[in-house]
Amino acid sequence: MTVPSADRLRAINADLHCHSTVSDGWLEPEAVVLRALANGVELLALTDHDEVGGIDAAARVAQAHGLGFVAGVEISVTFAGETIHIVGLGIDHRHPVLLEGLAQVRSGRDARARLMSDALEKVGIRGALAGARRFARNPALVSRAHFARHLVASGVMPDVRTVFDHYLVRGKPGFVEHEWAALEDAVGWIRAAAGIAVVAHPARYRLSAADMTRLFDRFVAAGGEAVEVVSGAHSEDEMRRFATLARQRGLLASRASDFHGENESPVDLGRCNPLPPDLDPVWARLLPSAPLGG
Ligand code: AMP
Ligand code: MN
Ligand code: MN
Ligand code: MN
Repeated sequence: MTVPSADRLRAINADLHCHSTVSDGWLEPEAVVLRALANGVELLALTDHDEVGGIDAAARVAQAHGLGFVAGVEISVTFAGETIHIVGLGIDHRHPVLLEGLAQVRSGRDARARLMSDALEKVGIRGALAGARRFARNPALVSRAHFARHLVASGVMPDVRTVFDHYLVRGKPGFVEHEWAALEDAVGWIRAAAGIAVVAHPARYRLSAADMTRLFDRFVAAGGEAVEVVSGAHSEDEMRRFATLARQRGLLASRASDFHGENESPVDLGRCNPLPPDLDPVWARLLPSAPLGG
């Protein structure tokens, strides 16, 4: 592989966070890769929630088509009472420390899904667990997104966003408190598997300024190295806010659609804004193991 120039490197269409049916995406891992290719993505990371079961299939298709591919994961963490997502990029997705940690995080999902279903039943919505499971292709990974899809399909609410607003966020009837992984553990598993830890979509967390500072202090102290500056979940103002944070903290910057599916995601694969030109793209560290195709 030839090492790209700094300008070419920056201009690479990198999309380093998206989902397949292995978690709460709508497309099979293979189809995610094909859609990314069709959209002009040059470097793709599949980052399913708490699960790496789609990596081999996605990597095979990516390789067959000459698409740069990065093994990834998005780990659910509880910090200051909030759910925070930490993406791992360039992981050895067979590393036993990572696999054990992810299995531990996933193991809480089943009981949580039952509690969510019980809570929804109390407000008159019956059979939500069975309904959510019909949307979950991976039985070990029933997420709120699957509940939301079931509630839309059964006519309770018009769209997934409205379901979240009315039922699935804190303070609403279907929300259940849940303790995910500790921040240091998640970063540690990613590092054990030789990956780069990234704070996903930081603008989405309801943290006080002090807690946001503590989050990044502890993330960096644990060996975290990057932040999603450009995210499908960020407005331009939010992007600028976290570009500033990346500069101040000397963090690498990531660019990611967080694509789940055509009708559920504001940004399609590869269709994100470019990174501000002075930031250091995290993918500079990911390219040697994922050469770009022709
Ligand atoms: P869980 O890991 O089960 O808590 O589910 C989290 C997933 O739900 C996220 O990864 C998104 O896919 C989806 N999600 C969370 N909040 C919202 C929202 N406000 N609108 C639409 N989808 C959401
Ligand atoms: Mn999701
Ligand atoms: Mn997320
Ligand atoms: Mn995501």
